[in-house]
Amino acid sequence: MSGIDASIEPKRIKEVRAYVVKGGGADYHDQSSEHWILGYIATPISIYPEYRASRASWGINILGSVVVEVESSDGEVGVGVSTGGYPAAWIIENHLSKFVVGKYVGEVEKTWDQMFKATIYYGRRGIVMNAISAVDLALWDLMGKVRGLPVYDLLGGPVRDELTFYATGPRPDVAKKLGFIGGKLPLIHGPADGIEGLRENVKVFKEARERVGDDFLLMYDCWMSLDLPYAQRLLSELKPYGLFWIEEPFIPDDYWSYGALANVAPPTLVASGEHESTVHGFRLLLELGRVNVIQPDITWVGGVTPMIKIAALAEAYGAWVIPHGSSVYGYHFIVTRVNSPFAEYIVVSPDATKVVPQFYPILRDEPIPQNGRVKLSRKPGFGVELNRDLLTRPFKPT
Ligand SMILES: [Mg+2]
Repeated sequence: MSGIDASIEPKRIKEVRAYVVKGGGADYHDQSSEHWILGYIATPISIYPEYRASRASWGINILGSVVVEVESSDGEVGVGVSTGGYPAAWIIENHLSKFVVGKYVGEVEKTWDQMFKATIYYGRRGIVMNAISAVDLALWDLMGKVRGLPVYDLLGGPVRDELTFYATGPRPDVAKKLGFIGGKLPLIHGPADGIEGLRENVKVFKEARERVGDDFLLMYDCWMSLDLPYAQRLLSELKPYGLFWIEEPFIPDDYWSYGALANVAPPTLVASGEHESTVHGFRLLLELGRVNVIQPDITWVGGVTPMIKIAALAEAYGAWVIPHGSSVYGYHFIVTRVNSPFAEYIVVSPDATKVVPQFYPILRDEPIPQNGRVKLSRKPGFGVELNRDLLTRPFKPT
């Protein structure tokens, strides 16, 4: 006896649908112009004066969100989201669907490998990986719904009762009052703003430290804006003020600057990886970059399926996995990993003072930190519902 009952026909996937949504959602940069996240923040492009004043000036908010539904033969629907808007929706409807329709529910490893290998010649990163992520998340959501289990149970079950959070935004003082364990400031000035800018960066951090006290984690997110000499000097000047981690100081491909910074950073941790993909990319970041904290975004890195490998790799390097944003899609993963001690909440209210759902208005029932904590429900899949009123399906097959 083989132990496999061939008479039980597994449910199969009959359709994949890709939608675009503008105005917030999975693309949390897609906000109105007065939102803090579009403001005067250091970026790799802010060396050019014409793209300095606002991140919207060079188009950070241009893509919008993509939403995927996968439907099984008996009408159960799984939902996934990512950034990528129209280009991602086109790729999903016209290419990725080929590897999803007809597969049985739960056949995620093979589906992911086929989607990745079929798009390597034009993909590997960015929009294509965002598109793969949205499909993969929808497949995990569907698998949970069909089996009647939350995704975290499909991943081995929770290792902690609830998640604790740090908050990303310009008001760590407010985050502390709201019950978060830490706050991460956006770095304002990059190398083009010279020594005055560097002093201002130190002053902003020092004042934040004075407001939150010594026992609150404080980080700086540099969003790929620095070079090695600047990052080394910034770290040295911030030593008296307890910088917990410096995040993404360099562009993702510059693993060697990360490695050089690792020599001088302790006790400050070096964090990066929100724009990295694949277990091979993270191997470079861990081996050459010697980062202490990796930050894959589950809605960008390819979904849950590659996260299993990436998190296992990080554990072998003694690194934490504190995923970027990702909301409920990240929470289901983080709660199952010993080396993910807490989670990120991106404060998406315009003035960074209120805790609101990160993917609003796409999802209903999206959990948000209450007193800095989330206890996940036992609803099947990711436990959230799609707000279908907002959806446009631009590339529906005819
Ligand atoms: Mg970041």
